[in-house]
Amino acid sequence: MQKNDIFNLEITDIGVNGEGIGKVEGYTVFVKDAVIGDVIEAKLMKAKKNYGYARLVKILTPSPDRVAPVCPMARKCGGCQIQEMSYKKQLEFKEKKVRGNLARIGGVPEELLDRIMAPIVGMEESAYLGAPFYYRNKAQFPVGEDKEGNPIAGFYAGRTHSIIPNTSCALGVEVDERILNLILDFMKEYKIKPYNETAHEGIVRHVLIRYGFRTKEIMVCLVVNAEKLPHSEILVGRLAEIEGMTSITLNVNKDRTNVILGDKVKLIWGQEYITDYIGNVKYQISPLSFYQVNPVQTERLYRLAVEYAGAGEKTVWDLYCGIGTISLFLAKERCRVYGVEVVPQAVEDARNNARLNGIENVEFFAGKAEEVLPEYYEEYEKSHGGEKAHADVIVVDPPRKGCEEELLRTMVDMRPERIVYVSCDSATLARDVKYLRERGYEMVEGRAVDQFPHTVHVETVALLTKKAQ
Ligand code: SAH
Repeated sequence: MQKNDIFNLEITDIGVNGEGIGKVEGYTVFVKDAVIGDVIEAKLMKAKKNYGYARLVKILTPSPDRVAPVCPMARKCGGCQIQEMSYKKQLEFKEKKVRGNLARIGGVPEELLDRIMAPIVGMEESAYLGAPFYYRNKAQFPVGEDKEGNPIAGFYAGRTHSIIPNTSCALGVEVDERILNLILDFMKEYKIKPYNETAHEGIVRHVLIRYGFRTKEIMVCLVVNAEKLPHSEILVGRLAEIEGMTSITLNVNKDRTNVILGDKVKLIWGQEYITDYIGNVKYQISPLSFYQVNPVQTERLYRLAVEYAGAGEKTVWDLYCGIGTISLFLAKERCRVYGVEVVPQAVEDARNNARLNGIENVEFFAGKAEEVLPEYYEEYEKSHGGEKAHADVIVVDPPRKGCEEELLRTMVDMRPERIVYVSCDSATLARDVKYLRERGYEMVEGRAVDQFPHTVHVETVALLTKKAQ
């Protein structure tokens, strides 16, 4: 097989990034946007010895699982990877991916997985056109310029940093588009330059929008390569007319980096945060704080985490706690909770959230989980005459890279009866499960939750308990 070869291909499998996989005489071909069951015409773009990457030229026979995308940009955009696959198949794919990782990387026996894995929690019932859309409470649009020098907002074309204009994302809420267009018109009128990555010039880099589904409060945060936004009073006047507008801020990011947010937030209108509910817990959310993007599925995710943790007067550590979301759910079940989070603004939100809900049986620590917990453990031993710190339950919800070994070691030392692992990357979950299984813990329950329909991402909750000695 050579570059530019054109051939017919039947798609028989799917890769971890949602790409279709087919074989021609033993040669494996990966094709973006192709769905299992499609017969396609493909053109080889990159040829390696045993495998290659091809472009989808034409669909000859569509798969029974192929659906028309809701968004016309679905293929170009890096945001959705599997929008052309039926939602039912998406769920099957995600379930298989989680199981595959737990078996292969985690070494969890297949028979055990058969017994303990509950079916994936999908989002079918909030269906739109047979699949869930418009679920995201947060949108982050990069801002740039078109060839004529007009400001544009949109998304990065898959894996690149060129911006394709599109202000109506099928995963976001309707008001996003109105806000973006208002900002772009303002920029044009007042000649405010979008940021240019290559030249490290210009002002507006990103627009971050958050929407509280329950409270209908809106937050707009403009990420700027400056200390101030010229004529901001005009923009603020216009944005404030939008019903529900609650918080308008600037985030200062003057670094040459592709990290979206800088550390500094300046309030330019309203208050610095919006509030929202998950279940009956009220949360305040600041621009820099992490907050789950799909509120419908988040409630299910947290309920599952709480169910695995078990209610009652227990000592629980909630590591990587963000604004204290899971912590407060647990505290409401009478647990005595210690939360740990690295972003100072999120810790502040977490403390305020406890107050806001009149919850007292919770305490938050700012710092890295892999430093705070080991230090606590050591200090405890020193100040308690050699007695070791113990936790009944430890909950972790790390970012994609999973937990540091230093943290896992201390967790094992604290001998919790239960470890509840909430994960947004089942590969690192599996790696950490392997570590814990080798040190006296066994996975006894697990369930995937689809927080991110139409993308390849999936959340997983796993319960591990201490094996009998
Ligand atoms: N449980 C929360 C947050 C989960 S996201 C929720 O569901 O809302 C992961 C969180 O871990 C983020 O808030 C991030 O800021 C934080 N974080 C990242 N690295 C960390 C570390 N090393 N120690 C503690 N927190 C960390």
